[in-house]
Amino acid sequence: MMSATEIAKESLQAWLLRGTFVWRLPSAAGCALTFDDGPHETYTPAILDLLRHHHVKATFFVVGDAVMRSPELLLRIASEGHAIGSHTFSHREITNLNAVELEEDLARTRKVISELTGINTNLVRPPRGRVDIPSLLRMRRLKYKLIHWSRTYSDYLHDGTAPLVERIRSRGLDSGDIALFHDDNLYTLEALEVMLPQWCSRGLKFTVIG
Ligand SMILES: [Zn+2]
Repeated sequence: MMSATEIAKESLQAWLLRGTFVWRLPSAAGCALTFDDGPHETYTPAILDLLRHHHVKATFFVVGDAVMRSPELLLRIASEGHAIGSHTFSHREITNLNAVELEEDLARTRKVISELTGINTNLVRPPRGRVDIPSLLRMRRLKYKLIHWSRTYSDYLHDGTAPLVERIRSRGLDSGDIALFHDDNLYTLEALEVMLPQWCSRGLKFTVIG
């Protein structure tokens, strides 16, 4: 049974913001691993190694100023076939930005990504997932596609690998899910080292968000 939040997200995707809000994929598409807050100089390369080892492609929602610090990592993400989206320039919640600030922030982030990789992304993951009606309508007017998630395992708690693995197992991952992770910490890396082989042997298929 869907929670109230899930019903709200489904209403946005299926009806109110059709085409510009996505929180889950059709089951036949497989599931999508997504990584926010990078690129990180230590953990992004390690996660890329892990994904490559398992032949899994993911979607990275990068922060503009982190890209400025590690442009070579953005290039690596793109060259290894992963999808790239925006996580804003400096990780300010979009609900705290006025219309002009939001437009400028998203345009600046998109420009940085496109100048480095040639990828002109319209995908946006809002920092902390925070959205409200004005920000959703602004994003739609600017023709961005807001990507939320259907599974989070609260890896931002940074409370250790074992608790994170436990949450991933209990909350599950299925075809059609968009799973939220952060490529900026050891616990996410170590939990994925445990889970990815299990998901692959279960026959789960992975896709990128386009
Ligand atoms: Zn974030």
